[in-house]
This record gives sequence, structure tokens and C-alpha cells, in this order.
Amino acid sequence: MKCYVCAQEGYDSEAVAICIVCGMGVCMKHAIREEQEMWEGGYPFPAKKVSKTLPRILCPDCYEAVKRS
Ligand SMILES: [Zn+2]
Ligand SMILES: [Zn+2]
Repeated sequence: MKCYVCAQEGYDSEAVAICIVCGMGVCMKHAIREEQEMWEGGYPFPAKKVSKTLPRILCPDCYEAVKRS
């Protein structure tokens, strides 16, 4: 799979990850890795925090969208 962002810019880079939100491939340069804290107990009242974080990969567009909300 090729990096979607690079393809839009006319480059041809191999994707190393997939955005968990929109599912498009992203290269090392465009993949944004975020550590997401896990909570047990569920919405709307998380009871306790789990001690580990889950990494998640986002593309630049989805990262911007998630950050704003
Ligand atoms: Zn790229
Ligand atoms: Zn995305």
C-alpha cells in the first residue's frame, strides 16, 4: 500500500501504518502515533484507569480532527 498523503502530493512512498479512523495508508513521515489512555468501567463514568496506554496511528487529517474535539 502507498501513503495516501504522499500520493496526493505526487510522491510515491510505501505505507508503514494504517490510520485507525479513516483506514488510509500512511508512511513513516505522515503517521502520527498517539498513546491513548485506557479506562475501565465505560462511558460515561470510567471507574479506574488501566495502567497501560494503547498506541494508535492516525493520519494528519484525522489527528487534526481528533485533537479539535
Ligand atoms: Zn507520506
Ligand atoms: Zn485518517
